[in-house]
Amino acid sequence: MKLRKLKNMQMEECGRCKYKARLIALGLGVRCTHPDNQKYKLEEDSQTMPIIISRVPSKCLLQDTGQKKKLILHIPHGSTFVPETFQVLEGVSLEKEFQRMTDWYTEELFNFDEAEKLVFTYSRLYCAVERFRQDKDESMAKKGMGVCYTCTSYGTKLREVSSREKVFIKSTIYDVHHKKLETLVEEELYVQGSALILDCHSFPNEFLAQHNESDKRPDICLGTDSFHTPNELMKKLRDYFEKAGLSVAINEPFVGTMVPLKFYGKDKRVKSIMIEINRKLYLDDEFGKNKNFNALKKLILNALKDLI
Ligand SMILES: [Zn+2]
Repeated sequence: MKLRKLKNMQMEECGRCKYKARLIALGLGVRCTHPDNQKYKLEEDSQTMPIIISRVPSKCLLQDTGQKKKLILHIPHGSTFVPETFQVLEGVSLEKEFQRMTDWYTEELFNFDEAEKLVFTYSRLYCAVERFRQDKDESMAKKGMGVCYTCTSYGTKLREVSSREKVFIKSTIYDVHHKKLETLVEEELYVQGSALILDCHSFPNEFLAQHNESDKRPDICLGTDSFHTPNELMKKLRDYFEKAGLSVAINEPFVGTMVPLKFYGKDKRVKSIMIEINRKLYLDDEFGKNKNFNALKKLILNALKDLI
């Protein structure tokens, strides 16, 4: 592909730009979406292809928007969507599995307009993005709960997954999701020099013996990583929730937090912490929201605001 008229582009033109841009990749530049700049198009591309400039000029308003630090909210388990091809074995109650395994309303609970949100739109029963990609690296794969679940949370058989389907799910859904998270982190590193991921979950008050977890059931569980979670960050959140009268446990019953593999154990500028909310705080017996829902949502929002 050749760039047409790119050499004629005046940087000042972009300096007037008040349009939001998205970094496309580290070191490659930004896409300028200013309508006046759309005359500079990739020759073989569609009319809507924005121009790629090598850097944001110093006076550009794009830079103002870019300078704002953003939390990256990773919300992987809130959906109950499965494709039509998803068939469970006879006798399996999909509804019961959804009830136990879905992090109900987490997209609403962790609602902060100024954050970047990455919400996984499939149910974890179809594709579990928080598992390691390869079964050999994933301890839960032995229990039929790797990236593609074949067992229920009760340890019984859920469904058959052919190796062909596994490849399909990993390459078209799992990898795409991880790439999105990686890109969000790269954008923050590029603009801010650091990135903060909040891994947002909820968990059932009932202990799931099938899972590799402790039987401790606090109100809030903070998952940390010795390399990627600064102590101050953990303490800040712990103190905040404790002051609100909630019990907080660290890495109990769930351990760790999401960090894209590319940076895992390598780049300290990528910070991450997991927040798990006990569902008894906000769900009623019918898996609807209880009367505390809005107050909890507000409490979480204030916690998030305090992190940037
Ligand atoms: Zn979860």
